Amino acid sequence: MSGGKTYDAVVVGAGVFGAWTALALARRSRSVLLVEAYGPGHSRSSSGDESRIIRMGYGTDEIYTRWSQRSLTLWKELFRARHREALFQQTGVLWLAEPGNAALRATAEVLARCAVEFSEPDRAWLTKNYPQINFDGIGSAIYEPQSGVLLARRAVAAAVEEALRLGADYQVAEVLAPGGCGRMPHIRTGGGDAVKAVEFVFACGAWLGKMFPDILGERIFPTRQEVFYMGVPAGNEQFSPPWLPTFLFKTDESYGVPNLESRGLKIALDRHGPPVDPDTQSRIVRPQEADQIREYVAYRFPALREAPIVETRVCQYENTSSGDFLIDRHPEMSNVWFVGGGSGHGFKHGPAAGEYLAEQLLDGPRPHERFALKSKEKVQKRAVF
Ligand SMILES: Cc1cc2nc3c(=O)[nH]c(=O)nc-3n(C[C@H](O)[C@H](O)[C@H](O)COP(=O)(O)OP(=O)(O)OC[C@H]3O[C@@H](n4cnc5c(N)ncnc54)[C@H](O)[C@@H]3O)c2cc1C
Repeated sequence: MSGGKTYDAVVVGAGVFGAWTALALARRSRSVLLVEAYGPGHSRSSSGDESRIIRMGYGTDEIYTRWSQRSLTLWKELFRARHREALFQQTGVLWLAEPGNAALRATAEVLARCAVEFSEPDRAWLTKNYPQINFDGIGSAIYEPQSGVLLARRAVAAAVEEALRLGADYQVAEVLAPGGCGRMPHIRTGGGDAVKAVEFVFACGAWLGKMFPDILGERIFPTRQEVFYMGVPAGNEQFSPPWLPTFLFKTDESYGVPNLESRGLKIALDRHGPPVDPDTQSRIVRPQEADQIREYVAYRFPALREAPIVETRVCQYENTSSGDFLIDRHPEMSNVWFVGGGSGHGFKHGPAAGEYLAEQLLDGPRPHERFALKSKEKVQKRAVF
């Protein structure tokens, strides 16, 4: 807790971006307080599910390929330090699309340039190795053998634990929306505390628009996303690693994670749902979405035609206009920073984002224009996948 202390930095929000920002600052020997309203990786946060994919492919967007590479190294180092190696599951990641898909072609070029290990299996190889998948319409594929899955909410907790081990403080409190201009002296919590710091980082995920309604209210678009876990047939290992990798059907806008920790095959559509409020949206899936997923699973995984839905999650993407992250300084408060806009693909990048923000704070700002506030528009035109 704060007392009369002035921290080097207060980080608001212990999702993946806030946790790794606090950790990056603590690693650079700065005094940090991490303040979180509900708890690291809680069920209403975007970081709160069991698993998140980490893959290197990003079409032409090489910056994200490089950030994924850097982040996977940092995730593995963290898990090794915490003796939690199993929080990364190297399932491999399989991209699937129609013949001649431009995004997969671009992905292959960038992966080659960045020295990422990958192969481009043909249809005969796919059918032989993954008989549980219906490859109708699929004619291009990329396989990343080193990529896989982060066990998300526990991975965030591990980053927070490591930050605390290095001296960071942690407080459960709701931070009230700040106002004014110039240098902000302190934040205020719902409990009436005022906490002083030199720099303030707001890593509030889908809540960023509520915290800064004038600036971000129309630039962060929280959308409802529903995720399903399908029960696999008894005695059947075809849907578990190594028999099934993590997969992304570009053509169908779907993705999934194999049966990890016996929770079932995780599957979801990567399409933006309706706009939502992250505090109040219902966390119960809608019957029509469940029917759509059942139908889709029956088509791509015929052996799961009768599979029951054994778990569900309802969460939100916190989209920017393009899908590029928002990591920038507040335009009117010189010691206030935003990190967010993960846009459905941010989890894997937590380590690189934390490292980047720490560099901006401590080594002088050299902002990348893709992360700049001025590049964030008020109309959604998703370009990063
Ligand atoms: C269904 C789904 C699937 C996804 N799949 C992938 C994937 O496979 N791979 C991938 O890389 N990414 C994926 N993502 C995206 C990724 O999960 C998010 O981009 C990332 O988790 C965002 O992290 P965050 O820290 O910005 O936000 P959050 O995790 O939401 O954290 C924000 C935190 O701020 C706290 N907070 C907010 N306001 C306040 C306040 N006033 N006071 C105190 N605390 C506050 C909240 O309680 C919350 O804990 C997916 C997202 C969803 C929803």
